[in-house]
Amino acid sequence: MPNTTQKLYYCNDNVLLEKKDATYCIPKFFAAPAWLKKQQITHPLGTYDGSEIDAVEVTGPKEIPLPYTWLPLRAALEALYPQSFNLLVRAHQVISWDKNHRYCGRCGVETKVNGSGFERQCPSCHLLFYPRISPSIIVAIRKDNQILLARKADFIPNVYGLIAGFVEAGETLEETVHREVYEEVGLQVKNIQYFNSQPWPFPDSLMIAFTADYADGDIELRDGELEAAAWYTADNLPGLPGSSISIARKLIDDFVAKNK
Ligand SMILES: [Zn+2]
Repeated sequence: MPNTTQKLYYCNDNVLLEKKDATYCIPKFFAAPAWLKKQQITHPLGTYDGSEIDAVEVTGPKEIPLPYTWLPLRAALEALYPQSFNLLVRAHQVISWDKNHRYCGRCGVETKVNGSGFERQCPSCHLLFYPRISPSIIVAIRKDNQILLARKADFIPNVYGLIAGFVEAGETLEETVHREVYEEVGLQVKNIQYFNSQPWPFPDSLMIAFTADYADGDIELRDGELEAAAWYTADNLPGLPGSSISIARKLIDDFVAKNK
């Protein structure tokens, strides 16, 4: 019986895609083409759009025949957004988990995969390892008809974004919002409202997006993480993240739509 499980190939954070005219798609491979290197690790991902899909990690080659191409993960996420965005993230995070938990962090013994799920276990001390997901908050702060936009020194020149940061141990999401906003720009906020969420594989985040209203304080770049932050109206915005796939851009677009 032929194998009906579709294969999604990764090589060092690059995704194997097929290019048709100006668009990309995941090629319908059910077995490895002859030009892929043999050394590979397969991870069953489950069912997507009615087909079983495996993520397969390969070691090359760099040069592959047209119309196939290796696309870096970020570019692949943009090319396949929104249909296959979550699938690519899932594949990437499962491969990272498998690579990063080969040995037990507690006792150093080589771990083994348990069953068919995403679970590795140490055979000596029985510690379990799952794909790591790190929650992060991102928040659009509004003051009257303005939004707070900020930029880090390492952003693309003239591009502004929102306040964001990882959740720390023992924090609620709301506490993270208050802490990050105060640490980065010295403001107090109120009316924190859930907006949406998005997995984000750089490296293993789950972005949880909020809106909030300004409550008190003057903008002060307190922890040196930002190089600029200011209030902007919808008709006077600075440069924004170009791609609409990020939840940051969705939060900003939502503000603009409500403040035209
Ligand atoms: Zn162990």
